[in-house]
Amino acid sequence: MTAHLADLIRNIPDFPVPGIQFKDITPLLQNGEALKQAIDALASRYEGRALDAVVGIESRGFIFSAPLAYRLGIGLIPIRKPGKLPWETFAVEYELEYGSNKLEMHRDALRPGARVIVVDDVLATGGTVAAACQLVEMAGAAVEEAAFLIELTFLHGRERLAKYPVFSMIQY
Ligand code: AMP
Repeated sequence: MTAHLADLIRNIPDFPVPGIQFKDITPLLQNGEALKQAIDALASRYEGRALDAVVGIESRGFIFSAPLAYRLGIGLIPIRKPGKLPWETFAVEYELEYGSNKLEMHRDALRPGARVIVVDDVLATGGTVAAACQLVEMAGAAVEEAAFLIELTFLHGRERLAKYPVFSMIQY
């Protein structure tokens, strides 16, 4: 199954900046069977666990987090770029593989003690998801696992996320 999904990830050299091999997930998204397989794999991994919410990271994380939350019958918490969320937020600044950024989450998104899965498309350096996990913890909630379609193992993001279980479907 994993080999089939991996065949649908397109490698784009030097995008968005020279030296980055961008993993383009759109061929996988275009393929209904593959998209279903990816969501089904996530859902079967987390079904039956005591989870309160799925946390999705803007923007490609939303593609996988929303159907996962739907399948699990639990809520979706969006983590967004600055200035997008209308209510009071927690904010964390972090560094990307290219550039730096800030992420925000609504202060009332998670109750203290809630258990969540944090979802994004690609684990690269781990900076983005580490910031997302920090936001979850600022709310007093706990990260049960961080889940990704793709993991770029040579960037050692998993080490940066050593505090949390990490799951990925395709590794490079
Ligand atoms: P990082 O914080 O370094 O783990 O970067 C993860 C975020 O950047 C994810 O939201 C990815 O969507 C995006 N990203 C980083 N590197 C790549 C890459 N080589 N190909 C596709 N997306 C990437």
